[in-house]
Amino acid sequence: MLKVNDLHHKYGAIVSLKGVSMEVNEGEVVALIGANGAGKTTLLRCISGILKPCGGDILYRGEAINGLPSYKVAHKGISQVLESRHVFPKLTVMENIQMGAFMRKDKKKIPDDIEELFEIFPRLRERVDQKAGTLSGGEQQMLVIVRAMIANPTLLILDEPSLGLAPIFIEEIFHIIPRLQRMGTTILLVEQNASMALAIADRGYVMETGRITLSDTGQNLLHNDEVRKSYLGEQ
Ligand code: ATP
Repeated sequence: MLKVNDLHHKYGAIVSLKGVSMEVNEGEVVALIGANGAGKTTLLRCISGILKPCGGDILYRGEAINGLPSYKVAHKGISQVLESRHVFPKLTVMENIQMGAFMRKDKKKIPDDIEELFEIFPRLRERVDQKAGTLSGGEQQMLVIVRAMIANPTLLILDEPSLGLAPIFIEEIFHIIPRLQRMGTTILLVEQNASMALAIADRGYVMETGRITLSDTGQNLLHNDEVRKSYLGEQ
């Protein structure tokens, strides 16, 4: 579904991606892990068209998408939930969700799809008329995921969905991701919480200073000595 080939990116003089190659197959959850500053967010932002790479290719279903503006990438079926977790604070939960559906042509199907998502996120159903700015951090994270999902993406990109959340919400997020996968969504996930991410991932990539240094199944990475020492806090 997604193939990144020898991707390079720079912020001025700072080289952030030094030839990254990776892929995501249809139906997979793929986790990208690595230390702070490794280039994970930069890679996601190049894929979703927020940043422009200076070399290499990004192919989505065989078509080059590198350099396309982000709204065109979104039109192709890629939704990204940014690390900043931005909601429209003065709009209600329902209005925020509807903002995510504005590109859809099949408007009649939207209420049923919202209902299906509320089955997974019952906490949001209880708060449909509440202003999004008054939700807790965990609830706002769920709202931005639902807003991305209601666009009906084929590829959902999640940047640090558990960052800064209370343990109960972290558990919930990692419980929800496999359910979204079972709904037919392919997911690319960046996470500091490497053990939980690898536990639910079909495959994973380890990134270090702008390069992919390791790739394997989620389970193999979870049991890899290097990964355990460097990213899972083991001696
Ligand atoms: P984190 O987990 O801390 O978000 P990351 O793996 O997502 O880290 P990036 O945010 O992609 O890493 O950063 C990769 C490199 O690019 C880092 O060295 C970072 O300092 C640098 N960088 C990121 N954003 C900018 C920017 N706007 N201007 C200059 N350098 C940047």
